Amino acid sequence: MTLRTLDQLGDLGGRRVIVRCDLNVPLADGEITDDGRVRASLQTLNQLLDQGARVVVISHLGRPDGQPVEKYSLRPVAQRLSELLGKSVGFVAQTVGDDATAAVDQLEDGQVTVLENLRFSAAETSKDAGERRAFAEQLAQLGDVFVSDGFGVVHREQASVYELPQLLPSAAGTLISAELEVLERLTEKPERPYAVVLGGSKVSDKLGVIEHLLPRVDSLLIGGGMLFTFLAAQGHPVGKSLLEADQLDRVRGYVAEAQERGVRLVLPTDVVVASAFAADAEHTTVAVDGIESSELGPEALGLDIGPDTAAAFAEIISSSSTVFWNGPMGVFEFDAFATGTRVVAQALTEVDGLAVVGGGDSASAVRSLGFTDDQFGHISTGGGASLEFLEGKTLPGLEVLGW
Ligand code: ADP
Ligand code: MG
Repeated sequence: MTLRTLDQLGDLGGRRVIVRCDLNVPLADGEITDDGRVRASLQTLNQLLDQGARVVVISHLGRPDGQPVEKYSLRPVAQRLSELLGKSVGFVAQTVGDDATAAVDQLEDGQVTVLENLRFSAAETSKDAGERRAFAEQLAQLGDVFVSDGFGVVHREQASVYELPQLLPSAAGTLISAELEVLERLTEKPERPYAVVLGGSKVSDKLGVIEHLLPRVDSLLIGGGMLFTFLAAQGHPVGKSLLEADQLDRVRGYVAEAQERGVRLVLPTDVVVASAFAADAEHTTVAVDGIESSELGPEALGLDIGPDTAAAFAEIISSSSTVFWNGPMGVFEFDAFATGTRVVAQALTEVDGLAVVGGGDSASAVRSLGFTDDQFGHISTGGGASLEFLEGKTLPGLEVLGW
C-alpha cells in the first residue's frame, strides 16, 4: 500500500477541504515563540488555496484537557497564519456547531478559516472509539474532502487523525509526504556510521524507543532528562533530577544489550547541576558520581550535560554519516543550561551526510539558539511521530491514508 497524496484528490476548486494541521506552537504570555509549525503547514494550504479550495483548518494546541482554556486558543495562531499566507484568515471560536457551520458556509473559493482548538472537546483524544467517531462525524460535516497534514500527531489514534479520514475522501498533505521521504532514508539502509541522540523530558515515552533502535544504530547518545535514570541504574545518586525509578531494571537491560550487540551506548561523564529549576539558579559542573556531593548539596538537580560530555557527543555526531536527534540535552529554555543543546546542534550542522532534528522542543531549541533550518538536513515537526516511525511501528494516522 502506498500513501494517498494530495494530487490524487483531483481538482479541489470550489470544494470544502478540511486540513488537519499541527499548529501546536510554543507560546509564552500569548506570544508565539517559534512559528516553525505554522510555516511548515503553508505549502499544503497555499496549494489548496491556489486551486480555489475553501479551506477549513483544524488543529490542537497544548493540553487543555477536553475543555475550553483561553490560553490554548488558536486565535493568535490564525493571526500568524494570516501574516505568513499574506491573506486574511478567518477564525471561529468553536470547533463544531452552528458558528463553525455558518463560517464554513460563508467561505468563498480560495478563502481559509481556522476552527478553535480540537482538544477543547474531550472526544478528540477520548479512549472510547465511539466518542471519537461521533466527534469526527460532526467534523466531517464541515468538509467534502479531508487532507491530513499534522505530521506531529500521526502516531495518535485521535478523532481528527484516525476517524475523520475514514469518513471523507482523504489524502496526506505535502508536509507529511516530505517528512516520510526523509524518515525513510533513516530506516532503509542508512549510511553508516549511524548515530541517534536522545534527550528531552518525556522519559518514559522515549525509553521504549531505545529498545527498538539498539539493533539499528552504531551509536546511541543519551542526554536530557532521561540520562539520570541511566545514572541511577549504575548506582549514582541523582539528587532531585528527573528520574523514572521504576525503569531502572529496564535501563540496565538496555545497557547490557548494547554491550552484546556492540552498539556504543554513550552516557554522560559530567553534568551541570543546579540548586533549583530556575533560570537564575546557582549551578556547577560535576562528574556523574558527584551530583549529590557538590557544594549545592544533596538536593541538587541536573539540568544539562557537562562540557566534557558535550564535546564527546559532538565528536561522535560530526563523524557520523547519518544522525537523528530528538530531545534537548538540557533545559535550553534557561541560558545557563543551554550549552549542551547548543554544542550538539552545532555538531549536527557539521555532519557530512544526513542530519535530522525531530521534536517540537528540539526544533524550537535549535531556532532559539540562533541556528537556521537550512543548516540541518531536515527539521521534523514531529518528535513522537518520528520516533515511532523509526521504531518501525504502525502509525494509525498514516495507516488510514493507505500507508
Ligand atoms: P521534543 O519536543 O523535542 O520531543 P521533549 O518534549 O521530550 O522534546 O522535551 C523537551 C523538554 O525537555 C524541554 O522543555 C527541556 O527543558 C526539557 N529537559 C531537557 N533536559 C532536562 C533535564 N535535565 N531536566 C528537566 N527537563 C529537561
Ligand atoms: Mg516536546
